[in-house]
Amino acid sequence: MYSLDFVRPASLAEAVTALQAEDALPLGGGQTLIPALRQRLAMPGRVVALAALPELVGLRVEGGEIRIRGATPHARVAAEAPLPALARLAGGIGDPAVRHRGTIGGSLANNDPAACWPAAVLGLGGVVRVRGLAGPREIAADAWFRGLFDTDLRAGEIVTEVRLPLPLAAAYVRFRQPASRFALAGVFVARFAGGRVRVAVTGASASGVYRWTEAEQLLASDFSPGALAPLCVSAEGMLADVQAPADYRAHLVKVIACRAVAEAASGRTACG
Ligand SMILES: Cc1cc2nc3c(=O)[nH]c(=O)nc-3n(C[C@H](O)[C@H](O)[C@H](O)COP(=O)(O)OP(=O)(O)OC[C@H]3O[C@@H](n4cnc5c(N)ncnc54)[C@H](O)[C@@H]3O)c2cc1C
Repeated sequence: MYSLDFVRPASLAEAVTALQAEDALPLGGGQTLIPALRQRLAMPGRVVALAALPELVGLRVEGGEIRIRGATPHARVAAEAPLPALARLAGGIGDPAVRHRGTIGGSLANNDPAACWPAAVLGLGGVVRVRGLAGPREIAADAWFRGLFDTDLRAGEIVTEVRLPLPLAAAYVRFRQPASRFALAGVFVARFAGGRVRVAVTGASASGVYRWTEAEQLLASDFSPGALAPLCVSAEGMLADVQAPADYRAHLVKVIACRAVAEAASGRTACG
């Protein structure tokens, strides 16, 4: 291990200050960052531990939204989220060790193209709240996810909270890679008052999580799996690797989306 400065701040304000060093990174649950440090894929001079800060842990319902603080571990969301689709999404991430250490803020900052949280946050049309030296900033999900492992997060900022509107119905279904348990394709679907529908797809595209707007339009007038029948998902731009070729992932997107709509329409919410 090379030498680095490990900072354990006593407050969010201290964490933000500690992060202003040129090569400092926040440490959430370490499920991605620690392996990256060990492999020298990341070599920060300082890491700032967030997980023990009470200001950054917990969730609540307020103003028709679920508000989840940035360093809340997946296991806590699985146990406490009032929306079954979210609880089951969080409860299906990795294994117990990953769920008890890994955090929603770490997942959203990392924006792995196969991660589950980006699908939920984009599918619900959430807002990511961050804090840097200049103060807090709020970024709509549509602007947060900018591409593969890329987000609107700026150096020195911390994801402090995620605000997710409560839908009338929602479901997350994914087809899991059996070893890693990451999604080969995962779809989060949410229906809101007035018939508005959002559909977000993870795991499939080489550009990371994205909204499937054609599906949203059809589902707005007919919220049933059959509404998706006319759609054909192109393999262009889909991920292709040893786990699955692009056309297989494209095929999965529609199959999984139909299952997610069926689950949401039935009132059950699933995480496959
Ligand atoms: C074996 C295994 C299986 C997994 N399976 C799944 C799965 O099925 N589905 C899934 O979605 N994920 C899965 N994950 C990922 C895991 O769930 C974590 O969410 C993910 O590793 C990042 O969260 P973390 O808190 O551990 O972040 P860290 O590893 O601590 O940090 C990751 C990145 O985010 C930054 N960061 C961390 N917290 C913040 C913050 N609050 N604000 C700003 N930046 C921050 C760090 O600087 C770093 O760049 C898996 C991981 C492992 C190891």
